[in-house]
Amino acid sequence: MIQIKQQTLKNYVGGKWMSPKSNQTEQVYNPATGEVIAEVPISDKEDVDDAVQVAAQAFQEWKEVPVPKRARILFKYQQLLVEQWDELAEIITIENGKSLKEAKGEVQRGIENVEFAAGVPSLMMGEQLPAISEGLESGVYRYPIGVIGGITPFNFPMMVPCWMFPMAIATGNTFVLKPSERTPLLAIRLAELLEEAGLPNGVFNIVHGAHDVVNGLLDHEKVAAISFVGSQPVAEYVYKRGTDNLKRVQALSGAKNHSIVLHDANLDNATTQIINAAFGSAGERCMAASVVAVEEAVADEVVSLLVQKANEIKIGNGLDEDVFLGPVIRDHHKQRTLKYIEKGEEEGAKLIRDGRKDQDTERQGYFIGPTIFDEVTSEMTIWKDELFAPVLSVARVKDLDSAVELTNQSRFANGACIFTNDGGAVRKFRETIDAGMLGVNIGVPAPMAFFPFSGWKDSFYGDLHANGKDGLAFYTRQKVITTRWV
Ligand code: NAD
Repeated sequence: MIQIKQQTLKNYVGGKWMSPKSNQTEQVYNPATGEVIAEVPISDKEDVDDAVQVAAQAFQEWKEVPVPKRARILFKYQQLLVEQWDELAEIITIENGKSLKEAKGEVQRGIENVEFAAGVPSLMMGEQLPAISEGLESGVYRYPIGVIGGITPFNFPMMVPCWMFPMAIATGNTFVLKPSERTPLLAIRLAELLEEAGLPNGVFNIVHGAHDVVNGLLDHEKVAAISFVGSQPVAEYVYKRGTDNLKRVQALSGAKNHSIVLHDANLDNATTQIINAAFGSAGERCMAASVVAVEEAVADEVVSLLVQKANEIKIGNGLDEDVFLGPVIRDHHKQRTLKYIEKGEEEGAKLIRDGRKDQDTERQGYFIGPTIFDEVTSEMTIWKDELFAPVLSVARVKDLDSAVELTNQSRFANGACIFTNDGGAVRKFRETIDAGMLGVNIGVPAPMAFFPFSGWKDSFYGDLHANGKDGLAFYTRQKVITTRWV
């Protein structure tokens, strides 16, 4: 097991670890123990400028490096990440709180993005038409766009940065990452391993901090594009300010995902999947199951299975074996969740499993047990807001049409799942649901690296999503050349 030595973190600029000009810092906690594990610098706009200037300079050479050579660095990086898999997972568990099993899964997701980006020679190939008219030909070529600013949330310190920088640098851009100030440690290993893989200095940089760094990136004239992942209000703000400054922006935002359970579903499978999707990572996933819309005919059975399975969940430090449910990220987030639970009761939802009763005075971290409400309606705050916590709402519905109608009332539209064996119902669900990532008889329909992470409505602002061919298009621009040989 790794030991985290308490330290004041540094920015990573041009291949050097540098103390920022700002001497402001914030404490980083292990949410399972409440211990301070690091001090993260809260850099200012000058620190951002230093990093962007270095990245802009590095871009001039990096964009000229032949694409297969860039890919080879990513192949080497992939090997290093595989070798460091356990260590990376432990860092994630220590700074984020999720179980080691989930952290290992997160590392895998990150590695898959590196693997996808290593295929960049094929992905970046253009297209030609040898005869658009007599003696005339046309072709399209892809090029990088410049310096990319990446701004990431606390809940996936490895996977979300890996949605961004592997493809960005593979396509010839340079990158400035601002990791979440609540989980900033993993990014350090990402940078160290990039260096070991042979990435030239200045291609990948880190500036730690909070909103000043974000604003610095959004306003900097040498930043060509911004990839953002985080909560809805910040995503909207980042999208508006970035596009106002005429940058390309993709802003992946908050969520409130519905799972629909029909009467013919395999209820044992459905409830197992929903429990994993609702309480895995303490509900701190943008693809978490937040609401179960269940047909009345099977609602009592579903509710009883959900409670029974939630009662079997082991709560504790994610580093301990068999622990499924770790802490939420901070005490402030725990208090916010407890207020939502009170609000749910006040507004008339039926609390059928109260995670507040799972308190263990021996534990110092920010724990809340699995909490389940029944008879939740779309007027209630716990249905409307993204709680991002281990709280699941059950809404009883007449049939598939009413389940879809309920789901489509949400302002968010990241994922939605259906549990059924009826092909016609699946088709109707697919055609009528307003959400970008759908699951059939699975709990977390998160797409793999080669498909786009396609939130709709207030779950995404922009045109080109992260990952897949969208990711490639976001980080590149095209030249079309029309030629006459005489
Ligand atoms: P957050 O919005 O608090 O923070 C995200 C980033 O924005 C961080 O780097 C943070 O420093 C910065 N930030 C925060 N407040 C800011 C402000 N006022 N001005 C400028 N920058 C600011 O999000 P979080 O709590 O770290 O992450 C959880 C959220 O992320 C959830 O809402 C979750 O749904 C969302 N998320 C979405 C996806 C997706 O794919 N749609 C994936 C993961 C997480």
